Amino acid sequence: MTTTTAGASLRSTLDRLPDRPGVYMMKGRQGTAIYVGKAKNLRQRVRAYFQPGQRDGRRQFRALLRSVRSIDFIMTASEQEALLLEAIQIRALRPRYNVSLKENREYPYIRLTRQHYPRLLATHAFVDDGSRYFGPFSDIRAMYQTLELVVRQFGLRTCRHRLPAANRVPCLEYHLHRCSAPCSGGLSEADYDLAVQRAISLIEGRDSAYLECLRARMAAAAVSRNYEQAARLRDQLRALEFMRNRQKVWLDEPLNRDVVGCARHGCRAGCCLLVFRDGHLRASRHQVLTGCPADTDTHIVLDFLRRQYGPVDPEYPFPDEIQTTAAQPGLPELRRLAGPNRPAPVWIVPEAHPVIQDLAARNARYLLEIKPPDRP
Ligand code: SF4
Repeated sequence: MTTTTAGASLRSTLDRLPDRPGVYMMKGRQGTAIYVGKAKNLRQRVRAYFQPGQRDGRRQFRALLRSVRSIDFIMTASEQEALLLEAIQIRALRPRYNVSLKENREYPYIRLTRQHYPRLLATHAFVDDGSRYFGPFSDIRAMYQTLELVVRQFGLRTCRHRLPAANRVPCLEYHLHRCSAPCSGGLSEADYDLAVQRAISLIEGRDSAYLECLRARMAAAAVSRNYEQAARLRDQLRALEFMRNRQKVWLDEPLNRDVVGCARHGCRAGCCLLVFRDGHLRASRHQVLTGCPADTDTHIVLDFLRRQYGPVDPEYPFPDEIQTTAAQPGLPELRRLAGPNRPAPVWIVPEAHPVIQDLAARNARYLLEIKPPDRP
């Protein structure tokens, strides 16, 4: 490690990095993310940047290492999960050096265009015209299968015509029963929008009834020995189940929320804080607390948060909401946590966003597994 590049607090982070897969976020002077990467082994990967004689001699790369002031990390269950989280973070934060080093590993998204009779398309490019995006999707095959399924199932158009149009002649898609032909003027925009909403429910994995229907059709096809159709339905089911179970590590609204995971072993507790600002994951904090009381997790979470927030957090505004599995403390305790000049945060139940809660809880557990007790 070069002492000229890595300051004392950076060196201490490098010493604490776990031998686990995950995502790391390098931050500059203002606390903004300047580079996001993923690693099969966080400790080896990140420390390698600061080894003397590391091989990447690009000017941009040297500038990146000179600018790093702190590093946040999030442990993941697998390298694949890290890859996806990295893609989400790069897209949300647009870190300066990911862009300039052209290391922007992009997964595809599904775009719902903003137009009359909108279309659903696969894309890597973001158009800032009010289009809505779903993804990213790490299983590209499942994404394309789902897209094809929903577009056909709900008769959504694939053409670029400007609609509504006065009685255009429908194309082959209509005759193949793959499009409801809004071009012909026979379908109201409200009916088409309803079909779009159902397609989105499937993409977001919210339409359990449709999944059940597919399962029943697959079973019936197998019973009648129509194996080709049963195999096709099985593939569709797999694709839709992937969509339903995929990671979603961001909030749907631009909320300022902190998500806290807590895991205990005896009098030790591993705590992880995921900091969401404007709906995006901006930072993470990890700490092992010792001498914890044997009662509820609430005291531990409050103790951990007090240590993280301090009187003024220079990097991030105080959260409006705190999401955790720990029971809600009383209002006086929440007011004390906020301090004199900030409103008390709202305590949110984990069901508000279970995937993110699970990520925080897993990080807290990993921390207990890998980390010796902290000095008091
Ligand atoms: S049938 Fe009409 S709306 Fe559908 S794809 Fe063809 S031209 Fe477009």
